[in-house]
Amino acid sequence: MAKIAINIATGSLQQEEMIVGIDLGTTNSLVAIIHPETKQPIALKEHNSSSLVPSVIHFDEAGNVVVGEEAKKQLISQPQNTIFSAKRLMGKSYNDIKANASFFSYKVIDDNTESLVKVQVGNKFYSPIDLSSFILKELKQRAEHILKTPVNKAVITVPAYFNDAQRQATRDAGKLAGLDVLRIVNEPTAASLAYGLGAPSNSPKGGEENPPKEKTIAVYDLGGGTFDVSILKIANGVFEVLSTNGDTYLGGDDMDKAIVHYWLAQAGLTEDELSGNREFAQAIRLKAEEAKIHLSSNDHFSTALNGDILTITKITFEQLVQPLVDKTIACCANALKDAELKKSGIDVIVMVGGSTRVPLVKQSVSEFFGKPVNDSVNPDEVVALGAAIQADILAGNNKQVLLLDVTPLSLGIETMGGLMDVLIPRNSKIPGKAARQYTTQKDGQGSMRISVFQGERDMVKDNRRLAEFNLTGIPGMPAGMAKVEVSFLINADGILSVRAKELRSGVEQSIEVKPQYGLTDAELETMLLDSIAHAKDDIALRALVEARTEGEQLLSTTEKFVNKNAALLAKEELMNTAAAMQALQLSLTLEDKDLIHTKIEELNNISRPYAERIMDQAIAVAMKGRMV
Ligand code: AMP
Repeated sequence: MAKIAINIATGSLQQEEMIVGIDLGTTNSLVAIIHPETKQPIALKEHNSSSLVPSVIHFDEAGNVVVGEEAKKQLISQPQNTIFSAKRLMGKSYNDIKANASFFSYKVIDDNTESLVKVQVGNKFYSPIDLSSFILKELKQRAEHILKTPVNKAVITVPAYFNDAQRQATRDAGKLAGLDVLRIVNEPTAASLAYGLGAPSNSPKGGEENPPKEKTIAVYDLGGGTFDVSILKIANGVFEVLSTNGDTYLGGDDMDKAIVHYWLAQAGLTEDELSGNREFAQAIRLKAEEAKIHLSSNDHFSTALNGDILTITKITFEQLVQPLVDKTIACCANALKDAELKKSGIDVIVMVGGSTRVPLVKQSVSEFFGKPVNDSVNPDEVVALGAAIQADILAGNNKQVLLLDVTPLSLGIETMGGLMDVLIPRNSKIPGKAARQYTTQKDGQGSMRISVFQGERDMVKDNRRLAEFNLTGIPGMPAGMAKVEVSFLINADGILSVRAKELRSGVEQSIEVKPQYGLTDAELETMLLDSIAHAKDDIALRALVEARTEGEQLLSTTEKFVNKNAALLAKEELMNTAAAMQALQLSLTLEDKDLIHTKIEELNNISRPYAERIMDQAIAVAMKGRMV
């Protein structure tokens, strides 16, 4: 068994075994390490082969699992047993992916529910976690074969837009593959490490002699299936993600699809004919990818498929993909806005992902930011190289860098009237924590429901429910006496732990948030846009709900007070109070917060004199008692 010693002084792990960096990509995956002698990150490869392992899994008739190049070869002949782009399914329900269902030439279970998707191969069912674990197992075995040493620990990268469920799914896949996943790192963050901007000298770019005090970089990552743009600030060796934006359904695969559609249209075929013939669909998809790659350095492409000649020019290709590129540019603009920066505030633009080899992409990004882009590190390897550097940091070999990330959406809990009470605002730094105290609404209330939500709207019904639990065992106390502290802790992997503790009695309950299914990028975008579109209405609604809550509380305390002290009240006082209570009750059913406030004020004006009188009497009695 391998041993890891913890250095108490630095809190770091003393490396006694290899920690590898893994880029688990939609299209390709790879492993990198820090070379023990040169101290430079290198991507692992067998002699005369590529470092890239296609993220494709093939199941043969005998039930064997094959991953990588060999599996990719089966895409055309056995599409139903050969799984590609499994990463797109991570943490998703069928509802999330149904709009793109025709993209998958294998069987994704379409039971139309919100539960997590499964893939059916023959009579077996696989979750995206199982599928990713097959890829990771293959990467682990390859690394062990090349390094001639066991590999049990890894840092794995994920797109910045992956939510908690998707990060957890990636971690689970690692565990299934026999890997202890020490850290999940955002791909753009890893890439920035590999570029060595303001960082240590073991980056492929050699780091900087005298790095400037502060630098702001945009990491533009367009891979096979996902797009991220992150704005990072690097100061004194500390990397901070100021904002992230992107689209988990946008990448080189979509460019391939655009070419397929173009060819189908030219041949007078429809999309239906494609879904009816899986083998043809696969074959034309691969031809489209070949065309796209060819057009990165040529002006014309031509090939034969089933006796037909397929052609496309670079000019046509660029026209086809311009809308996709424009979408990524819109994301760049949003990321800048979130980071409260102007284009001129970006010092360096880093290109990541195989699709950034498309000249139109480089040109458009460069035009948008008004600067040449930085694309000198191999865009396929840069993320894995950064993951290896992160692994080196965790191993305690590199103490010059710290990593900070941010939450993509606000996190909070439901309070009275269905209001969202934000504990951790959107774009807060990760890891991070926040705590707030709440109290009970009713006398003797023994439990409190804690409902955790994610989103930007004022009412929880408009946000996304992440988890719910009951804090039970609160000892009987009058309403408002219990002190329940709810604390949120987000760890470095973006996993949220929520704890509720009643401070007087010490009872507590906690939960780790692993949402049941993933959040699509479209949902995320809608949530953000909705919050802007509804901002005015939300403010008005929040004010109304708060007024109603205040009114309800006043009715409840007044009722209690009157019942207890009826004998001390004059008949007129009782009648006036009842009338004011009725008026307030009625106002609560209307949509007028000002009316509620007026009725609250009227009831207070009636009850205040006798409440003060009764309190004074009670104090007098108490004082007398003391004197005796
Ligand atoms: P990644 O997810 O970073 O591995 O990127 C894979 C994507 O990059 C796939 O869609 C590839 O087709 C695409 N790609 C790789 N090389 C090129 C190239 N030379 N030109 C255009 N796209 C490429």
